[in-house]
Amino acid sequence: MNITYAALLEQVKAYQPGKYHSTRNYTNGAVTSWSPYISRGLLSPVLVMEQLKSSHNYQAWIGFMQQMAWREYFQRVWQHQGDLILQDLKSIQTNVMLEQLPVPLYNASTGIHAIDHAIHQLYDTGYLHNHLRMYLSMLHSNIFKAAWLPGAKWMYANLLDHDPAANFLSWQWVAGTFSSKKYIANQENINKYTNTKQGGTFLDTEYENLTEAIYKVDGQIKPNHAGKWSDSLDQNFDIDTNTILKNIKEKNLPQIFDINQVLHNQPFCIYNSFNLDPLWHADAPVNRILLIEPNHLNQFPITEKVLQFVIDLAKSNIPGIRIFIGNFEDLMKVIQTNPTTSNTEQAVSENNKPIIYFKEHPTTKHYQGTQEDRDWLFPQVDGYFPSFFGYWKKCERYLK
Ligand SMILES: Cc1cc2nc3c(=O)[nH]c(=O)nc-3n(C[C@H](O)[C@H](O)[C@H](O)COP(=O)(O)OP(=O)(O)OC[C@H]3O[C@@H](n4cnc5c(N)ncnc54)[C@H](O)[C@@H]3O)c2cc1C
Repeated sequence: MNITYAALLEQVKAYQPGKYHSTRNYTNGAVTSWSPYISRGLLSPVLVMEQLKSSHNYQAWIGFMQQMAWREYFQRVWQHQGDLILQDLKSIQTNVMLEQLPVPLYNASTGIHAIDHAIHQLYDTGYLHNHLRMYLSMLHSNIFKAAWLPGAKWMYANLLDHDPAANFLSWQWVAGTFSSKKYIANQENINKYTNTKQGGTFLDTEYENLTEAIYKVDGQIKPNHAGKWSDSLDQNFDIDTNTILKNIKEKNLPQIFDINQVLHNQPFCIYNSFNLDPLWHADAPVNRILLIEPNHLNQFPITEKVLQFVIDLAKSNIPGIRIFIGNFEDLMKVIQTNPTTSNTEQAVSENNKPIIYFKEHPTTKHYQGTQEDRDWLFPQVDGYFPSFFGYWKKCERYLK
């Protein structure tokens, strides 16, 4: 999935959004697979929409715009609600039977072909169609009745487009803690949207029976599942961030930050896994640092494969970028105690500190320096909206 910015722009120019709205729910629909680049801050949503608007009519791009607005809506919720996105936001999740991941989801043994295939796809490629994400999360939270957060963390860790807002809030939307009801789907629905023809599964039933597909009234697993799964369905999922960071450092040694190689007297642009904007201060002679913070990764763990994807994307698109593995405060100590970066006229600001640029984001609240805005499709529509449609109504005014 690594790509150059130039190749990505070619895709954006060539994209035909006209069929998006009517086909986007099908796994072979006209979706773009751009989320790994949008989430990583490589591809600006504003640039995408300006390009589509300049080449297509309103009817062709409005459906696509609405989905992009879902993304932005989730960003606003995170911006204004902070870490509350990790807790049941509007109502408490009911009927919880498992505290971890259901084993059949973790090891792709549900017996539902489209679902098991999707889980392998998640592990192998780090990308999943939106409907498949909905199927996995509804199976986890509403059919196996597992607490939504461990499932959300598992999916997040494996996604190249991992984004706390889109991920945790979508999981909450499915589990009914950030929506008015739990989302469920039966085998017929899965067959329709994934082009499969499977029958006789535990989801091959009417909607009113779906939520009782796994357990008897006493909480035991139903006899028709006997032998397929173990008696205990709870599967722990852990990521060892320290080991991952050690391996990442070894694999990327030539790009690891070295204070002796900084451009003397020049400012620092701090990139992170949500800001890999190749156009940011592009022509200026600045020190470009990809900051990989253990504190952030301990809160939102990702696999080594996914972290290496972030690094590869940065290396391919931001010339001269160096990787710093440590928290922002650690980076500051290294920069500030070095005479070449802290004591010369051009590199210091008025309060005698190195000049640091970074972009506004919930993950950069503790950075210090000059904060710059990120791109918003609807900069005027700010604040917390409890529902998407209240938010979208406001956004639509700016599209007329
Ligand atoms: C359980 C679950 C977890 C999710 N986790 C993430 C995540 O970690 N990161 C992430 O970027 N998206 C997440 N999504 C949203 C959505 O599934 C992906 O953005 C989309 O599937 C990406 O594929 P695409 O680029 O082909 O999308 P397209 O359909 O081509 O859409 C274009 C862009 O619009 C945005 N978008 C489209 N649909 C949605 C949506 N429903 N919510 C938010 N943004 C949307 C994305 O930026 C996407 O790249 C999640 C959805 C669910 C149901």
